[in-house]
Amino acid sequence: MNPPPKLTPEARAAALAKAAASRRFRADIKAQVKTGQMSVRKVLDLAASNEFVGKMRVSALLESLPGVGKIRAQVLMEKMGISFTRRLQGLGKHQVSQLLAEFDAVAQGLKRGKLLVLSGPGGVGKSTVAHRLREVSDFWVSISATTRKSRPNEIEGVDYYFLSDEQFDEKIAHDEFLEWAQFAGARYGTPRMGVETALRSGKNVLLEIEVDGAFQVKRHTSEAVLIFLQPPSWEHLVSRLENRGSDTPERRAHRLELAQSEMASAKDFDLILVNDEVENVVSRLVSLAIH
Ligand code: 5GP
Repeated sequence: MNPPPKLTPEARAAALAKAAASRRFRADIKAQVKTGQMSVRKVLDLAASNEFVGKMRVSALLESLPGVGKIRAQVLMEKMGISFTRRLQGLGKHQVSQLLAEFDAVAQGLKRGKLLVLSGPGGVGKSTVAHRLREVSDFWVSISATTRKSRPNEIEGVDYYFLSDEQFDEKIAHDEFLEWAQFAGARYGTPRMGVETALRSGKNVLLEIEVDGAFQVKRHTSEAVLIFLQPPSWEHLVSRLENRGSDTPERRAHRLELAQSEMASAKDFDLILVNDEVENVVSRLVSLAIH
C-alpha cells in the first residue's frame, strides 16, 4: 500500500476546514429534520448532489426524525437491510424507496398508526415498559383516567387523570371511553379521543391496561394487537406484589388473587411476551409496530 500523501501545512489546514464545514452542514440539516422543516425526501435528494449530505450516516438521519430514537432506527434499518454504518450516498434504489414509503406516507397522513394493547397481571411491570417505550420511541402512550387515589409519586396528567366517581360516570355517559373496567375496587378507562387522533395522524399507540379492557378494545377495534406481558415465573410476580410498599396486606392479597385469574387469560391474546428484560420487551413492541 502506498504511504498517505504528504500534505503541506496549507493543504492540511484546508482539509481540516473542509471537514469542519462538512460537520456543521450536517448538524444544520439534522436540526432542520428534527424540527420538521426538512423532509426525509429532501435530505435524500440533497444527498445525491451534495457531498457533505451524502456522507451523513443513515442512522443519524433517522435518529434526527422527531420521535424516532436509536431503537426504532435500528429496527427499521435491519428490516430494510441497511447496515448500521451505511451513509446516505451508499443507499441502493430499493432502500431509498423503502425509506420514502415509511416516512413520506406518515407525513401525508396516509398510513394509520398501529394500536398495541399491553396487558398482563398487575405487578408484571407493564407501566415500566410503557414509560420506557415513551422515552425511546415515537409511540403515543395513552394516559388513562381512574377513580383510584393517586400514589405519592404519581403526577396528575402524567401517570393518570385522577377523577371522582361522578366525573368518571359523566365520561361514561358521554361515551368518552374507548374501554373501561373495574379493577381492585377502582375504575379505569382509556380516553377515546386521544387514541383516535393519534392513530389517524399515523402515530403508533400503546394502551397499558388490564385484561378485561384489552378484550373490549379488540371487540370494537379489530386492528388492535393484544399483547400479554408474562412474568418470568409465578414466584417472581408474587415477590414483586409483596414488595409493593404502597398496598395494604388485604389489598396485596386481593391483587394476588386477581393476578392468578389474569394469568389464565394469556391464551386469548394475540401474543405473549415474557418480561425478562425491559429493553427486550420494548424492542419487540417497536418492531411489532413496524412489521
Ligand atoms: P394501578 O392501580 O396499579 O396503576 O393499575 C391497576 C391496573 O389497571 C393495571 O393492570 C393497569 O394496567 C390497569 N389499567 C390502567 N389504566 C387502565 C385503563 O385505562 N383501562 C383498563 N381497563 N385498565 C387500566
